[in-house]
Amino acid sequence: MYGALEAGGTKMVCAIGDENGRILEQVSIPTLKPENTMDKIIDYFKDKDIKALGVGCFGPIDPDKKSKTYGYITSTPKDGWRDYNIVGVLKEALNVPIGFETDVNGSLLGEITYGDSKGLKNAVYITIGTGVGAGIISEGNFIHGIMHPETGHMPMVPHIRDKYAGKCPFHKNCLEGMAAGPAIEERWGKSAKELADNDEVWEIEAYYIAQAITNLILTLMPQKIILGGGVMHQMQLFPLIRKKVTDNLNGYIKAKELEDMDSYIVPASLNDDQGIMGCIKLAIDAVS
Ligand code: ADP
Ligand code: ZN
Repeated sequence: MYGALEAGGTKMVCAIGDENGRILEQVSIPTLKPENTMDKIIDYFKDKDIKALGVGCFGPIDPDKKSKTYGYITSTPKDGWRDYNIVGVLKEALNVPIGFETDVNGSLLGEITYGDSKGLKNAVYITIGTGVGAGIISEGNFIHGIMHPETGHMPMVPHIRDKYAGKCPFHKNCLEGMAAGPAIEERWGKSAKELADNDEVWEIEAYYIAQAITNLILTLMPQKIILGGGVMHQMQLFPLIRKKVTDNLNGYIKAKELEDMDSYIVPASLNDDQGIMGCIKLAIDAVS
C-alpha cells in the first residue's frame, strides 16, 4: 500500500492506493495552520502500514534534493506555511520514503501514468481554478529550472472587447489575472458556473487560454496539452480553445499532432482524481 497526500491551499486530500494507482480510500482535511493540520494527516497515515508517501504540494516548494531547503514550502503567503519543512515533518513522523512534487506536476504525472496521456514524455498540464498553474514534462523530466515555472503569470494581450484590468496583484493582466475563476467572477459579477450560458464569457476566456497554449506550444512542442481545474468543467471552452490555437499558429508548424486538435488539447481524463493518483505514483517512484 502507498500513501498519497495532495496538499492544497484549501484542503489536504489523504489517500491510500495500490501499485496500479487505484485509490482504496481517501479523506479530506481542511488546510488550517500547520499545527492544526499536520497532526491529522499524520494520524491518518500512521496505522496504515504504507511503504512510501507521495506528496503533491501547493507552492512554491523546493523540490531540489540537493538543496538545503529540499522538501519545504517556501515563499507562500499562506498563514503559517511559509518556509515550512513539510517533507521533514512527515518523514520524522512516518519514517517512510517520500516523493515530493508540485501539485500540478502531480496531476500531470497522474495523467501520463494512468490517464489518456499514458506514456507521453513531453506534455503540459494546465489547471485553471482559483489560480492558474502548469506542470511540464520535457523528455521525461519535470521542468524545475531555478524554481517551478510560473506559467500562470505569463503576460496576456487583452481581448479587444475586454475592459477588465485583471486581478493579479503583481501583473494585473497575466493569464491568472485574466482567466482564473476569481477573475471571471470579478469581471462579470457572477460565479463562473452561473455564467455557463453567456457566450461572450467563454469567448474571452478561451481567447486567453488559447494565447497561453500557443506560447507553450511554440516554446515546448509538447505531445499533448491537458486542461484541468474547476473552470475547465465548462466543456464548451474546448472547441473554442482548439480553434483559436489553430488560428494563432496559422499553419506555421507542420506536425501531425497539431492536425488533430481534438486529441491534442484535451480535458483531464481521471475524474478529478489525477492529482491524488499522481501522488500514488510519486510514492511508488520513491521506493523504486
Ligand atoms: P482550486 O483551484 O482551488 O484547487 P478548483 O480547480 O475547483 O479549485 O477551482 C475553483 C475555481 O473554479 C473557482 O473560482 C470556481 O468559480 C471555478 N469553478 C469551479 N467549478 C466550476 C464550473 N463547473 N464551471 C466554471 N467554473 C468553475
Ligand atoms: Zn500574475
